[in-house]
Amino acid sequence: MIQKFKISSGKSKGMIIFLEKVEDWECLYHECNARCCSEGIELTLEDVERISERHSDFFRIDDSRILLKGKDGRCIFLRNDLRCGIEDIKPVACRLLPFVIHEVRYGDEPFIKLRLVVDCPGVGEGGSVDLSEVERNATLFLHEKQELLMRLREDEDFLKKLLR
Ligand code: SF4
Repeated sequence: MIQKFKISSGKSKGMIIFLEKVEDWECLYHECNARCCSEGIELTLEDVERISERHSDFFRIDDSRILLKGKDGRCIFLRNDLRCGIEDIKPVACRLLPFVIHEVRYGDEPFIKLRLVVDCPGVGEGGSVDLSEVERNATLFLHEKQELLMRLREDEDFLKKLLR
């Protein structure tokens, strides 16, 4: 089941494509050992600015992407009780759950494709998924990535400078 939503808010234009459908979901992190909280979640510039107000040394650069650092394959902010240590300021990508980013393309017709987390035990549990919230965060991610790519076009060392 594919659902498409056109984005046209402010400067953002593009398409959000849901590759799968879900009605109810609850994060049962204790059942899957918080599998989603793995190393390398992609950050936006705004994520970096927000998290930097409280933490340092939490991201690395990989080509044109900014990725959350990890330890033993897990996100560095994952606590021992499997809860997020930065819940109130967590990255946009983490707010898309139960969806994850499958593909992002830029150009004349940018799009972001979202798929469900594979074998998530919480699908079908709990309450209704707030799709409008997922759309809002997917729009934000797409917009912020476009901004980052524009800045990289202007200054290819922009991300290196971020690390200093
Ligand atoms: S920031 Fe929080 S929600 Fe996101 S991967 Fe890390 S622990 Fe999980």
